[in-house]
Amino acid sequence: MDRGSMCFDFGVRILFREDWGIVNMKNKLGLPKPKKVSISKLKKKAWDMFSKWVRLSASTNGYVVCITCGARKNYKELQAGHWLPGRHPSVLFDQRQVHPQCYHCNVGLKGNPILYYHYMENKYGKKEMRDLEKLDRQNKQFKPYELEAIYDIYKRKLSELE
Ligand SMILES: [Zn+2]
Repeated sequence: MDRGSMCFDFGVRILFREDWGIVNMKNKLGLPKPKKVSISKLKKKAWDMFSKWVRLSASTNGYVVCITCGARKNYKELQAGHWLPGRHPSVLFDQRQVHPQCYHCNVGLKGNPILYYHYMENKYGKKEMRDLEKLDRQNKQFKPYELEAIYDIYKRKLSELE
């Protein structure tokens, strides 16, 4: 198995990097298609788990700092905000560009993009930001097993935090 990859019981081979999140997934066993499930429901379920992990993994005693304005609040009051707008599937769950933000910055200021840019530049540098922009332009459509796997991975990572 590749370094950093994880294999799941339901036959999905996942390449996972601690600093990026999921790099890619393959349905190695070609499992039969499960009964029809709504992608939007699965996406919401995966997002809720991922968002909780983004906020809790950055927390101290349950408190998190908004990366753009510095407000310190209980993790339940903060959101997981994207650097690149649009919530495109190719970067929706990329850990590098999803960080804790308060409601005011994430929604009111539409991500507070100038300060978010500076945060990204300090944390990752321009090269990684350009890579993310390229990834953002790639077309991707989620398959149900991918969203299920994202849910499972971040559920596991959350249990490791506790
Ligand atoms: Zn804020």
